[in-house]
Amino acid sequence: MGIRSRAGSGFSTPAGWRDRKFEGTGGALKRIALVLLLLCSTLGSAPSPALSEDYSQKRSRMVDLQLENRDIRDVRVLAAMRRVPRHEFVLAEFRDQAYEDRALPIIESQTISQPYIVALMTQSAALRPTDRVLEVGTGSGYQAAVLGELAAEVYSIEIVEPLAESAAGLLERLGYSNVQVRYGDGYQGWEEHAPFDAILITAAAPRLPRLLVEQLKVGGRMVVPIDNEYGHQDLVRYTKTEDGLEHDIITGVQFVPMTGEIRK
Ligand code: SAH
Repeated sequence: MGIRSRAGSGFSTPAGWRDRKFEGTGGALKRIALVLLLLCSTLGSAPSPALSEDYSQKRSRMVDLQLENRDIRDVRVLAAMRRVPRHEFVLAEFRDQAYEDRALPIIESQTISQPYIVALMTQSAALRPTDRVLEVGTGSGYQAAVLGELAAEVYSIEIVEPLAESAAGLLERLGYSNVQVRYGDGYQGWEEHAPFDAILITAAAPRLPRLLVEQLKVGGRMVVPIDNEYGHQDLVRYTKTEDGLEHDIITGVQFVPMTGEIRK
């Protein structure tokens, strides 16, 4: 029983106007005109172009300040984060906070991850355009969309049915034809599309999910938050080699728990 999303691939948003310069008297007049224009557009009730310009500007600033200013260096990841409209993935009442430096609540008491953590996990997965990727924990679908921008095929599993349904519908509406969403327990992976070049688990696991390692190619990367002995979580990257697994701890994180079979 699969919920699948399919439609056209990537998309782009209008460039922000933050770089335009207003100089001299003409500049001052233009600035007043712009303020009047913005005032009129906020007074009107229909969604206006100024509003999507606003999101695009906020998104651009989010990438500059929260990602580039930290340690996100992969130019493809930065470009993807500039494209994916995070405000579409959050609840309407949080839309004005969509580009802030924090996780936000979504339906079913789950969360959409902080943009920086999405970028960090994606960068750690070192994706190539030809890669096939598995995500466990679709949630809002935002991370899946970012993966869809960077890899050839993305398969994402979500254990809460209404979330799987709504993410699948949204990803389809936004044109992510290379992302498929399925309702189920990600613990067993997605055998028919394995092996994967990368696996991202976006819920905290009590231990390494061994079954998923079997669905990883040699050379493949698994990025997963794992509970540590201090009651916190470490974001860990495992790399599968001919001889086994190498791992490195990326940073401390705070994810909602992975549920289902892994807890038994
Ligand atoms: N990647 C998401 C955020 C994930 S929140 C985003 O970009 O919005 C973690 C999600 O993992 C939740 O939606 C939760 O329901 C889901 N989850 C938890 N355990 C799971 C499991 N065993 N299999 C699949 N999904 C799981």
